Amino acid sequence: MRVVEPQRALGATDKAVEFSAAGATAVSRAAAATPSLRLDSLCKQYGDFGAVKTVSLDVRQGEFVTLLGPSGSGKTTTLMMIAGFVDPTSGRIRVDGRDVTDEPPHRRNIGMVFQNYALFPHLTVYKNVAFPLDVRKLPSPEIRERTMLALEIVKLKDLADRYPAQLSGGQQQRVALARAIVFGPPLLLMDEPLGALDKKLREHMQIELLKIKDQLGVTVIYVTHDQEEALVMSDRVVVMANGAIQQVGRPDELYRRPANRFVADFIGETNIIEGRVISHGSSPTISIGSAAQVRVPSNRAWTSGERAFLVLRPECVRLGGLAEACENRMQGVVERVIYVGDVSRVLIAVPGGQTLSAKLQNSGEARSVMSGDKVTIGWESDATWLVSDLSAAASHSSAMQGMEAGR
Ligand code: ATP
Repeated sequence: MRVVEPQRALGATDKAVEFSAAGATAVSRAAAATPSLRLDSLCKQYGDFGAVKTVSLDVRQGEFVTLLGPSGSGKTTTLMMIAGFVDPTSGRIRVDGRDVTDEPPHRRNIGMVFQNYALFPHLTVYKNVAFPLDVRKLPSPEIRERTMLALEIVKLKDLADRYPAQLSGGQQQRVALARAIVFGPPLLLMDEPLGALDKKLREHMQIELLKIKDQLGVTVIYVTHDQEEALVMSDRVVVMANGAIQQVGRPDELYRRPANRFVADFIGETNIIEGRVISHGSSPTISIGSAAQVRVPSNRAWTSGERAFLVLRPECVRLGGLAEACENRMQGVVERVIYVGDVSRVLIAVPGGQTLSAKLQNSGEARSVMSGDKVTIGWESDATWLVSDLSAAASHSSAMQGMEAGR
């Protein structure tokens, strides 16, 4: 029996095969020099309304990049412009170095998975998957070989003769994925592809999608408003709000070093404590209310008296004896202890009339904390980050700088 490499059989580029085989860190110089996708100052205007504002982004070959943001932030419009279904008002789109901005969708060689799957109800699973190859008028034996291989990759070979209505949501999603990869596109776009699945199946499919992506070496642009899904799946995440990029970074960068208050608030649970800068430098000191002064790392210049927001994740907050040993401390009063299984969430009133949340393990620290307790709260400087309250437009330039630095 002839063994067919999926990447070659589905027509992925040699670069993708190379990438897949050698691993993400060993991408060839040629591949690294030409981004798989380049968005250059992409804008979409509907009358006076800017749905997408000057979005620029380079995506490396084989990278999994997620557009993440609240409803209406411009994710789908950006994706649809890449796919060719929405015309940009200005800006250019390049796929593997080729300018595709003025080309129709079918000439862009991009695979697309829609949220509602968009399967043809009157065609079998096999016919649905073979459809892009039929349109391309490939020879019949090749259509059969590629279609069966795509079905094998998504584990649906046994259901090839069924119709979409005879499949579960997860199976329909797999058909849509097989149809998107069957012609071996170097770039795959996915618009909330797991949105309709229940939590358990969704988590299973997240891992399946990543395996298939690695197997094919394909570049993926993924849209979701689920920040946990974005962190789990992505090499890099593009956080969007009001049509503009707020930050581009690895999941851990976004979590630990958010570019502004919006990103800090949007990614994971966090405490955002307002203060005033009293000494500047790379690790400025801020005052919180009148009773506490703490040092916070930052990557920007601050001026004395400026309003600033300290970002402190609940799992980094220490109480009582552990807090005494920390670099930064302040006093507070426990307002409420909320039991949530493995951990307890402790709400503490701190100087300046603000409330801080701590996440404590129920097997340890949490057992000794009670409502009404006066407690010392502590944290290490490295666990915090100082951000400002920049608007989407103002923070766009800092997001772009972050991208430049990441290249
Ligand atoms: P969601 O998560 O809800 O899908 P999104 O981030 O994908 O949101 P988009 O669908 O890209 O957001 O929409 C961005 C903005 O552009 C929204 O305010 C939307 O109302 C607006 N918009 C989208 N399409 C049009 C259109 N054809 N005409 C006018 N405004 C539009």
